[in-house]
Amino acid sequence: MPTYREILKINEQYALDNQKEDSGVKLLLMHFAKMDSADLLLSMDEEMPETLYQDFLYGVDRFVAKNIPVQHIIGFQEFFGYNFKVNHDVLIPRFETEELLGNILIIYEEVFGSKKVKVVDIGTGSGCLAVTLDIEESNMEVFATDISEEALIVAKENNESLGGNVTFLKGNLLEPLKEMKFDILVSNPPYIPNKEFVEGLIKDNEPNVALFGGVDGLDFYRAIIKDAESILNESYIIAFEHAFNKAKDLRKIIKKHLKDVEVIQKKDLQGKDRMTFIVKK
Ligand code: GLN
Repeated sequence: MPTYREILKINEQYALDNQKEDSGVKLLLMHFAKMDSADLLLSMDEEMPETLYQDFLYGVDRFVAKNIPVQHIIGFQEFFGYNFKVNHDVLIPRFETEELLGNILIIYEEVFGSKKVKVVDIGTGSGCLAVTLDIEESNMEVFATDISEEALIVAKENNESLGGNVTFLKGNLLEPLKEMKFDILVSNPPYIPNKEFVEGLIKDNEPNVALFGGVDGLDFYRAIIKDAESILNESYIIAFEHAFNKAKDLRKIIKKHLKDVEVIQKKDLQGKDRMTFIVKK
């Protein structure tokens, strides 16, 4: 048998030749070999066992030829250092959303110091934002909503396996939160305009209800911002992820509905306008 290194190289090239990320091939090998990246490095010049080779090739075929996301084959996506279970019922957490999370933690401290706060995540999907905030910041009591029962099953599983203490509520946007008050509202709502082209890898494998946000992609921001103050305390933070070309439009919606707020807009690591924070002190 050829070595791990040789087999990995050939298959990474195969992925690249088919417009797939070569990093996915390494993740598949680590998964089927049950190795972390350090183990894999140490095994690179050993011969690959035949049974592992067969399993790995089957995985690579599903990823490259059958257009299945690596995360669905291995069953999880790492987010902020935690492994979140994912399947067809939830959006696969994205790197940009980790940046949103990091900024929420920073702005929370600036506005609230180390005060205890109540946080709600609207449209929690896999639960990546809600569960990570809950684990990372002990001063946050976290709630999360989603309209999809199937998504909530996954989110609850992640909450349990990662040791979170999030309360999940089923329903559309703010609807299940009537009579409650929060200090922080976070959301990464579906934000692709309905008619925008989306590649098959995403459109065929991730729930469309988690992707599309109306004609201009801003329906969920309008709906949330319009009613946000009914569930927020006097001082609050609202944190959104959004499409890179919607920062200005979002600012207009905010101006229309919210008075005396500071609006902070930030770029992601790729230099794209990606996050908007609304702060009322
Ligand atoms: N809040 C989840 C995430 O950020 C789900 C987002 C969504 O389904 N649009 O990944």
